[in-house]
Amino acid sequence: MTTLSNDPALFADDALQGFADAYSDLVIRVPGGVVRSSTTRRKKVAVVVGGGSGHYPAFCGLVGPGFADGAVVGNVFTSPSAADVVSVARHASSGSGVLLMTGNYAGDVMNFTMAQRQLAADGIDARYVVVTDDIASAPQGQESLRRGIAGDLPVFKAAAAAAEAGHDLDGVERVARKANDMTRTLGVAFDGCTLPGAAQPLFTVPAGRMGVGVGIHGEPGIGETDMPTAKELARLLVDRVLQEAPVPAPARAAVILNGLGRTKYEELFVLWAAVAPLLREAGITIVEPDVGELVTSLDMAGCSLTLTWLDDELEAFWRAPCLAPGYRKGAMTSAGGPDDDGPDIADVAAAAVASPTPTPASDRSRAQATVVVTLIDAAERVVRERENELGALDAIAGDGDHGRGMVRGVSAAAEAARAALAEGAGAREVLIRAGRAWAARAGGTSGVLWGAMLEAAGNTLGDDDDFWQRWLADPTRVVAQAVAAAVEAVRTLGTAQLGDKTLLDALVPLQDSLSQSVGRRLDEAWVAAAAAATRAAQDTASLRPRLGRARPLAEQSVGHPDPGAVSLALIATAVGDGARQLAGVSHGRGE
Ligand code: ADP
Ligand code: MG
Repeated sequence: MTTLSNDPALFADDALQGFADAYSDLVIRVPGGVVRSSTTRRKKVAVVVGGGSGHYPAFCGLVGPGFADGAVVGNVFTSPSAADVVSVARHASSGSGVLLMTGNYAGDVMNFTMAQRQLAADGIDARYVVVTDDIASAPQGQESLRRGIAGDLPVFKAAAAAAEAGHDLDGVERVARKANDMTRTLGVAFDGCTLPGAAQPLFTVPAGRMGVGVGIHGEPGIGETDMPTAKELARLLVDRVLQEAPVPAPARAAVILNGLGRTKYEELFVLWAAVAPLLREAGITIVEPDVGELVTSLDMAGCSLTLTWLDDELEAFWRAPCLAPGYRKGAMTSAGGPDDDGPDIADVAAAAVASPTPTPASDRSRAQATVVVTLIDAAERVVRERENELGALDAIAGDGDHGRGMVRGVSAAAEAARAALAEGAGAREVLIRAGRAWAARAGGTSGVLWGAMLEAAGNTLGDDDDFWQRWLADPTRVVAQAVAAAVEAVRTLGTAQLGDKTLLDALVPLQDSLSQSVGRRLDEAWVAAAAAATRAAQDTASLRPRLGRARPLAEQSVGHPDPGAVSLALIATAVGDGARQLAGVSHGRGE
């Protein structure tokens, strides 16, 4: 249970506020997360780590001299948005490029990849490395599908130390990839964790039993056993991790015995007393081991064993000093390197949050924008009405946050759309600003995808004569093209195929139906397309998810439709009803 909170929905924000206050000698808040409070030496690659909250000291606790330059902080177990990543990366950057690092999770991958592109467009060279140490999350041969768990720490540390040592961006990226290639983890859970405000734990482990390979968001593992003794558990962890040793494996290794949140340090030491001799018997020289909480999972009971096999270079980086709120090694002062005249935090912060002034739109485009705002309002209403249902659907095989994430996203979109309209924006700009707000506020996989859909659709609209000729000739064709752009954005960003059990399975039928209705009245065409999307969303029940958080629980999801497809169909239907009503109003006025 999480006992202490004010508003559970604000848990991550409140925690970040307290954290930044407590460690103001080391970190400072910026939009989207924290960066070091000491200015970073110029000509140093910035290492920016991140992910959802609930894993302290990962990720904000790893910011400080010798370790990360910044951390992007998402909601509990939810990826931060691309806008958050860009903001933190800009603040952390001292002009020599940025290495972004997260565990391998779909939401993080999409948001950090998008941020990487946006940073590149702004002239900041950014690279992105994901950690894939969890041997339970995909078999050998499919290492790139593995999740990142406690191995985040040594991999981030290696990259950060390489940056501190003066390597350029290529060099830091190379070290990060090498450290990841050399890192393996296996975790076990004795009991589940509970999201702040939730009455029930995310998952449970029967009394007297232990889940093997459970992920740090409660993703299911690879089996369950009777609760072992510490010695038996040590044997299981060591054997399984060593089976996965890199080939060839150096004889020396950094070793982490990580507590997941509710397992006491003394218990971990009891376990370590059995782990260390087994590793030594296997011929491994243990280098500066850590026993304690490094990558947690709220209040999950359990632990994990991580090895990073070390060559000389990796060993030097592992041993290098650092001083972060949640992780310290050797002698390092809070000032880190010598001060310099890096970017002024206040200036960059202002630039990051400033909203663009809308391009003045014509009257007809503003009239169209009013329609867009009305339809987004309709979407917000239906998502709010169905929030709990969407959450429950996502809890079957995912993490249960789809309802909450969609509400956050669509409300932010509606608010931004209204603000843009009030400032005189046209339809194109309203949709683009709504999309950006959605992605920025919702986080998660669906947030980044919805944001990209609206932005891509908005980009196909216009305000010039050409656009108006197209619109007057056939509005259904124009809308079909906008939806096609949304499909393209989802495909590019999410790399899903039809049948992977994602929102694409409802979006593509929507687009197909619209394309086939070119020439028909728009409101009727849309209503038919929404019906096709609704049928397609229901039909996803028979599919097995091949992507996203639900993939490991594929079997459990069979018989239930995909939450993202269902919410997309609900929104499409609400937009259709809204369009019909608007059409009715205009007929009533005799227009
Ligand atoms: P998260 O998975 O980060 O918790 P949500 O729960 O809000 O995010 O959204 C889950 C939905 O996102 C899924 O039901 C699915 O429709 C959609 N989704 C996940 N991965 C992809 C992808 N790669 N491409 C398209 N849609 C995806
Ligand atoms: Mg989810």
